[in-house]
Amino acid sequence: MRIWGSRFLVVLLFVTWIVAGCGERSGEVERNRSAHSGEVPDSWVARRESMVRDQIWRRGVQDPEVLRAMRAVPRHLFVPQSIRGRACDDTPLPIGYDQTISQPYIVALMTELLDLERGERVLEVGTGSGYQAAVLAMIVDSVYTIEIIEPLARVAMSTLEELGYHRVRVRIGDGYAGWEEAAPFDGIIVTCAPRDIPPPLVDQLAEGGRLVIPCGDLWHQELLVVEKKDGEIRRKSVLPVRFVPLIGPHGEE
Ligand code: SAH
Repeated sequence: MRIWGSRFLVVLLFVTWIVAGCGERSGEVERNRSAHSGEVPDSWVARRESMVRDQIWRRGVQDPEVLRAMRAVPRHLFVPQSIRGRACDDTPLPIGYDQTISQPYIVALMTELLDLERGERVLEVGTGSGYQAAVLAMIVDSVYTIEIIEPLARVAMSTLEELGYHRVRVRIGDGYAGWEEAAPFDGIIVTCAPRDIPPPLVDQLAEGGRLVIPCGDLWHQELLVVEKKDGEIRRKSVLPVRFVPLIGPHGEE
């Protein structure tokens, strides 16, 4: 009995050693993997928290729904892997094809200016990475977005699909013409700059709707809010900005 007892103890110690050892080793692999890819989920939550506090809230964007959306959407998964570590920096970042994902503050400010409510319908012109569309989808039920560069649209479609933003509809085409079949929209946001406000977008704005749009040439652009009230158009200028130009038949070549 005593022999069996001590053998059992040895086996038990051996098994414990293996389990503990393996546990430690796989822990190391996990840590290395995380350090390599920079993808510790908790650290991204913390980085977004400081991004919202320091870059967005401190500069005056206060709408709780906008702040919630900016905290929730995993911005790092919308930027190319090679620059993922800079995803929450206070700057626009390149996404390929000479295009950029806007600076976090500008995304938040434009979203706040849209003044959205849950049941409303929004159109975005300039899908890019799909990030702004995901932020919008955290706030409203229907989001339509148009991108003129097909490969960017395809990547955005799959990112949005993988992350579960099933409410976003993406179309490949010229956003200058809007999305007539889905109009009217309570909000329209344009994330590339035309020289002047595209008339089809004003036509597709619902009564009481808001169009948030940068307008101008490469050097001088203004962020405008255009409102349609009692059939009349009112526009106000918010601040000078610099966006990539609207391209296609109605824009820069
Ligand atoms: N909102 C994007 C950033 C957009 S950058 C994001 O969150 O990542 C501007 C985008 O507008 C680019 O992807 C550019 O290809 C697109 N664009 C430029 N002209 C366009 C047009 N006429 N119609 C639709 N998209 C256009």
